[in-house]
Amino acid sequence: MKQKSRVPAIICILILIVAAGVGGFFLGKNKEAERFQEETNINIQLNRSDLKELEEIEGTIYVTGHKSPDSDTVGSSIAYAALLRALGYDAVPVVLGNVNHESAYVLDAAGLETPELLEDAAGLNMILVDHSEYAQSAEGMKDAKIISIIDHHGDGTVMSANPLIYDARPVGSTATIVWLRYRNYGIQPDRQSAIMMLGAILSDTKNLQPNASTFADREAVKVLSELGGITDIDAFYQEMYKALLSYEGMTDEEIFFTDYKEYEIGSRKVSVGSINAYDEETAKDLAARMRKTMPLTKPSTGMDMSFAMVSIQHDDISVTYLVPSDEAEEEVLKAAFGNEAVYDGTSWRIEPCVSRKAAFIPAITDVLESYPKE
Ligand code: MN
Ligand code: MN
Repeated sequence: MKQKSRVPAIICILILIVAAGVGGFFLGKNKEAERFQEETNINIQLNRSDLKELEEIEGTIYVTGHKSPDSDTVGSSIAYAALLRALGYDAVPVVLGNVNHESAYVLDAAGLETPELLEDAAGLNMILVDHSEYAQSAEGMKDAKIISIIDHHGDGTVMSANPLIYDARPVGSTATIVWLRYRNYGIQPDRQSAIMMLGAILSDTKNLQPNASTFADREAVKVLSELGGITDIDAFYQEMYKALLSYEGMTDEEIFFTDYKEYEIGSRKVSVGSINAYDEETAKDLAARMRKTMPLTKPSTGMDMSFAMVSIQHDDISVTYLVPSDEAEEEVLKAAFGNEAVYDGTSWRIEPCVSRKAAFIPAITDVLESYPKE
């Protein structure tokens, strides 16, 4: 009997030891979690110290990005103004011009209206995001009260005599810094701001290209896509990109002048408009429209020759349609690219993509310089 009862007793003792160990472990874990929470709270309080300065400000605070707004400028303005409102300040996002089709797509996905247009910043409380150059900023900025600059570019010409929050970091987008500031202040972005920041980061980093993004950008995209309810990030980016390349609502002439450059080659004045398309069908359509429009632009621009380049470049597709304005340009293209490109009656189709600066201009220069001078 005695021998038999010893085994269960040892088991009981063993169980007690294990239970005590496990209990102690969890107690320790709890303490650790408590300490971590305390640390986090202190960090938030430390970061919120710079809000004291904002308490002195009277009137509305306007948050603006740069002229020719892109998705980072629009998204960062909206999200930063929302952060300040969540902290109890009167902050409003503004834009300095029409938003592009990509930003319009992201705004629509977030269910937001385009921010108000700001005409003049003189006398207003201003926060600058995604830029710090007067040349890129609103009229009257030199007479504004600049409170903060949040940016991921080099420091520009904008100066402020006020004590200001100047947060510049070399990350993929300004929206990533805005997201970090949400974290630092212990505020969770709302769904709409999350989508705006997500669109901004994807736009500036071209869907998190390794050479254009950091750990912070990738982490922000992970968290913000969840908060924004965007489950398929790649599909969202593809739609943004398609929207960016849509020239819907623009006249043919506006499209030609969107990314337009003039050159002097020999004694001739030459212009080249560069246009991007998503697929072959759109590219062919744009090529045909440019062929019709370009001759009409020559009298006002004083060009001897005009060309358009319609390029498709994403994923595995890399094509350029080289569009001549008239027969003389058609001859130049034939001489310069006839061996590699195929003429379809409107334009010369060449694979892979041709760059205006690196390939197109040198090639037509060779041809034009061999032509007899008039
Ligand atoms: Mn920008
Ligand atoms: Mn940017």
